[in-house]
Amino acid sequence: MASIAENISSLRTRIRQAELRCGRSPHSVSVLAVSKTQDADGIQEAWAAGQREFGENYVQEALGKISELAQRIPDSGIHWHFIGPIQSNKTRDIAEHFSWVHSVERLKIAQRLSAQRPAELPPLNVCVQVNLSGEDSKSGLPLAEAPALCEQISRLPALRLRGLMAIPAPCDDMEQQRRVFRPLAQLQKEMSSRFPDFDTLSIGMSADYEAAIAEGSTLVRIGTALFGART
Ligand SMILES: *Cc1c(COP(=O)(O)O)cnc(C)c1O
Repeated sequence: MASIAENISSLRTRIRQAELRCGRSPHSVSVLAVSKTQDADGIQEAWAAGQREFGENYVQEALGKISELAQRIPDSGIHWHFIGPIQSNKTRDIAEHFSWVHSVERLKIAQRLSAQRPAELPPLNVCVQVNLSGEDSKSGLPLAEAPALCEQISRLPALRLRGLMAIPAPCDDMEQQRRVFRPLAQLQKEMSSRFPDFDTLSIGMSADYEAAIAEGSTLVRIGTALFGART
């Protein structure tokens, strides 16, 4: 089995090739390492290979690893991204311990995150999660409702509105994957002229990141292809 460092290296190569194929500049796509179910050792190994952005889905699981890593590697430069469904009673932990949240789909949650963000920390980076697969998925709001939520989030003082995120239903045809991503990429482009920091399109996972890059992804969220299959 390949090591995490080897996986990171081949992932970077394939991302570079995908950027080249579609005429995008080198390093226009970053990797968010999705470390749900991975222990602190796996995260540390990825960190040693240069990975700095990590994504977690479950608050309780994440908090333990965040403090463990902070003890092991002071000034690690790690940024933690919250990418799972958000319950209102977890917003304080998220506001206090993460740099990014990708899964905001309701104003009430955004308001709580802004109110609970500690004053000594920089604004919390936020992406609005859109549902691209209709009834197949319960997470995210309909594409047509995203602009209004973005408008409201852009006025919250402790949040920094960065872009859009989606998790489409799995599908193994690349052309179909691209068709599903396309309207989101289009909306991201339109809204980037309305909001000053709107520079992020968080799409692409292990099975569809090449399609996502072809459609303009700036941040691919990779678990399996980096850490191996989750048990
Ligand atoms: C688990 C997860 C990923 C990573 O999925 P892989 O297929 O393992 O790369 C990405 N984004 C979200 C929101 C996830 O929950």
